[in-house]
Amino acid sequence: MKHLFFPQIVRTENYRAKACGDFYAYASYSEVIHADCQNRCVYCDVTLEENGHEGFALDHFRPQEHFPDLKNNPNNLVLSCGKCNRNKSSHWPVGTSTTATHDGAVGFIDPFRCDRHQYFQVELAGTLYPLQGPSTYLIVLLGLNRASRVLVRKHRILHAKINTLISMAEESIDCALSLLEAGQEIDSALQALSSAKAAIASIKEIRNEIHPI
Ligand SMILES: [Zn+2]
Repeated sequence: MKHLFFPQIVRTENYRAKACGDFYAYASYSEVIHADCQNRCVYCDVTLEENGHEGFALDHFRPQEHFPDLKNNPNNLVLSCGKCNRNKSSHWPVGTSTTATHDGAVGFIDPFRCDRHQYFQVELAGTLYPLQGPSTYLIVLLGLNRASRVLVRKHRILHAKINTLISMAEESIDCALSLLEAGQEIDSALQALSSAKAAIASIKEIRNEIHPI
């Protein structure tokens, strides 16, 4: 399930800059930052698609208000959904005199430098469970367990289960067909078909959980 959430993201090696070495206006890095962040909010992990293609914001990881020199530096830009961006605002509790992003209790987790699975565990119900460091602070400040995000995560888990069950049903049906074509092992073929039927029943149950009929 880990693979469904918080992928390790990597920055483009050299963001384009002017001949003099200065960076362009930060908004011009929108496309590359979307790609680097895999079209996900680096905070709540919702994808652009899951967010109904509502525009995401380019978030200044170290807030502009405290780090004006980083305003156009693309290495300080991350992708964020509108709500996380607004909730984050100019918060930067560790101050500007340190390179640290958190003090072990409050602050932020750099999504490009840290494995976010070390900080958050995604539960089956879709909630984020805080593991260490500033994860509780972030869940509260950014509202990472707001209802819409819990639902998105839960649906992602259920869709992955559906995909697994579809593969299982297909394999069982293929197995039954091979056995029947060979004209042998009818009992095994029947067993494979009943496995396929059980998988389809589970798919229906999950579908009803996603979209109650
Ligand atoms: Zn978000």
